[in-house]
Amino acid sequence: MRVETVPDPEILRPTDAIVRVSATAICGSDLHLMDGYVPSMVHGDILGHEFMGEVVEVGPEVRRVKVGDRVIVPFPISCGVCWYCKQGLTSLCDNSNPNPALAETMWGHAPAGIYGYSHITGGYAGGQAQFARTVFADANLYTVPDDLTDEQVLFLTDVLPTGYMAAENCQIEGGDVVAIFGAGPVGLFGVASAFVLGAERVISIDRFPERLEMARAYGAETINYEEENVFERLKELTGGRGPDSVMDAVGLEAQAHGLLGVADAVKQTTRVLETERPHALRAAIMACRKGGTVSVPGVYGGLADKIPLGAFMNKGLTLKTGQTHVHRYLDTLLGHIQHGRIDPTRIITHRLSLEDAPHGYHIFKHKHDGCIKCILDPWA
Ligand code: NAD
Ligand code: ZN
Repeated sequence: MRVETVPDPEILRPTDAIVRVSATAICGSDLHLMDGYVPSMVHGDILGHEFMGEVVEVGPEVRRVKVGDRVIVPFPISCGVCWYCKQGLTSLCDNSNPNPALAETMWGHAPAGIYGYSHITGGYAGGQAQFARTVFADANLYTVPDDLTDEQVLFLTDVLPTGYMAAENCQIEGGDVVAIFGAGPVGLFGVASAFVLGAERVISIDRFPERLEMARAYGAETINYEEENVFERLKELTGGRGPDSVMDAVGLEAQAHGLLGVADAVKQTTRVLETERPHALRAAIMACRKGGTVSVPGVYGGLADKIPLGAFMNKGLTLKTGQTHVHRYLDTLLGHIQHGRIDPTRIITHRLSLEDAPHGYHIFKHKHDGCIKCILDPWA
């Protein structure tokens, strides 16, 4: 990770807009790039898929978005007109990944393009920068009210809707108990969202005390998986039955040691790390009550080994997952922020300049210095 001076981005297509970035954040997904799990990173790629700012230039075919608009930029790119986008499934957009071949090799079909997320998702330059080129501007840029601060709305770009969609994927019914592996930004917003969606109790599982404390601040009960037997404790907390739904808000970090037989493209560029940490997806399947739902916002790449499919089938579980369809949640979540039902700002532990981004990546990756979420000011 390093900071370099590069040419300013330019309008390349008539539907583009240039955003002067006022705030941007480092995400758990960026760590997968940094750790080498995502193929097709090229030297000099600009990272960053959580960013917002002011529109400073628009292409000749941009109608709705205007110069001067203060916008957040959803991380998955929607063309606005394909079959998927029309269904609101914007992270599955058919037209926004300009080089789908690699993704098709790995996954059969190419999902949407993503800013700052390697060439497998389109090779778009990201927003951890002073300026960013955004595409399909009318379908993506979302204007935010002036009376909300950048810190209040920045996480609408990704981690807040991601926690929310993951909670929605838990198919919560009144009185449900939801367990969430991972108390990072996604897991924490999963906690807040599960309550908004009607959960009676939420149990957050991690190993970092400050993250568990934050989960308690959002109303969760907590389990430190380094101190307690998670399965026994979850059973104890649910009268022996297990949680009604379980979320894996961890993803690749814990799964890494299980990566096996991945497609050649991935094998060549993926570093397989050994880890003794529990495998969150396996744990989620094993811990969920019979007939329950496992929701997976955690990002995975290639093939995974030793998923307990027998438990999954015989317990009659439902699995729901996906990159977040950010656009469809924006109005709802903006309302929750405005009415004080969800306060996204409390997870911010570090505010750094862009110059200090490498340090930000370091402390966020290792969870040093109590880091839960790091935001960057490109103009500081
Ligand atoms: P993060 O790294 O801050 O949080 C991950 C947390 O999981 C850490 O606190 C870590 O201690 C904990 N953890 C690790 N192994 C664990 C285990 N076995 N059991 C319980 N906890 C464990 O990252 P984040 O920003 O919160 O992101 C979490 C995941 O969500 C990442 O995989 C990220 O790529 C993914 N994500 C997905 C989407 C989407 O659209 N689906 C969007 C954003 C992020
Ligand atoms: Zn993200």
